Amino acid sequence: MEVFGPNELVEDVLKRDFCIGCGACVNLCPYFKSYHGKTAMLFPCTLTQGQCFAYCPKAEFDLDAVSSSLLGQPYDGSDLGSVLEVLASRAGEKAQAGPVQAGGTVSALMSFALKTGRIDAAALTDREDLIPVPRLVTDPEEVLKCASSKFTAAPTLAALNQGRRDGFKSVGVVGTPCQVMAVAQMRLNPLDKEGFTDAVGLVVGLFCTWAVDTRKLTALLADRLDASGIRKMDMPPPPSELLVIDTGQGKVEIPLDEIRPLVPTGCQICPDMTSEWADVSVGVMEGKPEWNTLIVRTDKGRELVEEASKAGVLVTEPMPEKNLSQLRTASMNKKKRALARAKDRRVLNADDDGSRSALRIQDEVLNKILE
Ligand SMILES: Cc1cc2nc3c(=O)[nH]c(=O)nc-3n(C[C@H](O)[C@H](O)[C@H](O)COP(=O)(O)OP(=O)(O)OC[C@H]3O[C@@H](n4cnc5c(N)ncnc54)[C@H](O)[C@@H]3O)c2cc1C
Ligand code: SF4
Ligand code: SF4
Repeated sequence: MEVFGPNELVEDVLKRDFCIGCGACVNLCPYFKSYHGKTAMLFPCTLTQGQCFAYCPKAEFDLDAVSSSLLGQPYDGSDLGSVLEVLASRAGEKAQAGPVQAGGTVSALMSFALKTGRIDAAALTDREDLIPVPRLVTDPEEVLKCASSKFTAAPTLAALNQGRRDGFKSVGVVGTPCQVMAVAQMRLNPLDKEGFTDAVGLVVGLFCTWAVDTRKLTALLADRLDASGIRKMDMPPPPSELLVIDTGQGKVEIPLDEIRPLVPTGCQICPDMTSEWADVSVGVMEGKPEWNTLIVRTDKGRELVEEASKAGVLVTEPMPEKNLSQLRTASMNKKKRALARAKDRRVLNADDDGSRSALRIQDEVLNKILE
C-alpha cells in the first residue's frame, strides 16, 4: 500500500470533498481536528508519510492488499465479502433493555464483550442534539447510552485513536463500512512501526448505504424541530421514502428527496455496504423491525455470537432466503455504483504517472463487478 503524508491527504481527500469525517486521522497528532462533522488540518505538517494518510479510507485504499494481509486471500469482489454465516438476531432476555435502533444486537454484543473481558474499552457514537459524538466506553452498563443510529457521518474513530493512545490493549469498535475500512488499515501497521501491537480487539460493522452531512442536516432541520429533544431517527424500509425523527413530542417526517442532496460526496465512491472487514456486521432486517441481519465473518466473531447466545444475551435464527438474496443484490449494486463513479472521477486505479487513487482494485475483479 502506498503511504503519503498529511499534505497529500488534504489534496486528495479534503480538497476533493471525499472526506467522510470518520475520525481516523483525529487524535493521532495535534494537527487534524473534527468539529461538528467537518475534519480540518489546523497547522502545516511536513511529514512525507503519516498515519493520517495511511488510515484514511478515501486515500489509496487498496482492496486487494487489505484483503490479502488481513484475511490471507485476494479481494474477489463478492457481494458480501468474507462470510461464515448470515443469521437473523436480536438482543436476548439477559441483555440490558434500552433505546436500541432495531434488534439491539450491536449493543448486546458490545456490552457482553466488555463484561466478559474480550475488550477493555469500546469506541462508540453518542449524539448531542444532531451532532454525532465519539465516546470511549469502559463500563458495559454505559453501552446503551450510545445505542441507536445517528444517520450523520461520525468521527467515531477519534475515540478509537484516543483509546489506543491511552494504552487500552483491546479496544472494540462499532463503525460504518468506511470506518471499518480505516480500522482494517490501522491493524496492518502500514508504517511498519517497530513494536507495533494491534490494539483493536473487536470490530462490529454496521450496514450503510449512505449517511448525511451533519452541518447540512442541522441547517435543514433548524426551523422544523428542536434538536435538543430528539430521541431517535429511523429510515423505515421502502416504499416509505422518509427519514422519521422522534422528537419526544411527536414524529417529524422528512422526505428522502430532501435528504439525498445532503449525502457527502465520499459516500458516492464507497464500495462497501456491509462492513466487509469486520468480525461481525449488523444491519436492519426488512419486514422484522425488531430484528437485525447479522453476518458472522471471523472465528472471533463466531465465538462471540455463540457465547453471547449461550449466555442469553443474544437470540439468533436462520436468515430467510428471500432477505439474504435482497441483501446480496443491494450490496452488489452499491459496489457497482461506487466503482463506476470512482472510475468516472478518475480516482480508481490511477496510472503510474504520479497520480494517486482513492481506491485500488485488481482489473479482472473490477471488470467482473462492472460487467
Ligand atoms: C449512517 C448509517 C447508515 C445505515 N444504513 C443502513 C442501511 O442502509 N441498511 C441497514 O440494514 N442498516 C443500516 N444501518 C445500520 C442500522 O441503522 C443499525 O445500526 C443496525 O441495524 C444495528 O442495529 P441495533 O439495534 O443492533 O443497534 P444498537 O444496539 O442501537 O446500536 C447502534 C450502534 O451504532 C453506533 N452508531 C450509531 N450511529 C453511528 C454512526 N453514525 N457512525 C458509527 N456508529 C454509529 C452506536 O455506537 C451503537 O453502538 C445504518 C447505520 C448508520 C449509522
Ligand atoms: S475520511 Fe476520515 S481519515 Fe480521511 S480525511 Fe476524512 S476524517 Fe480523516
Ligand atoms: S456510504 Fe460509505 S462512506 Fe458513506 S457513511 Fe456509509 S460507509 Fe461511510
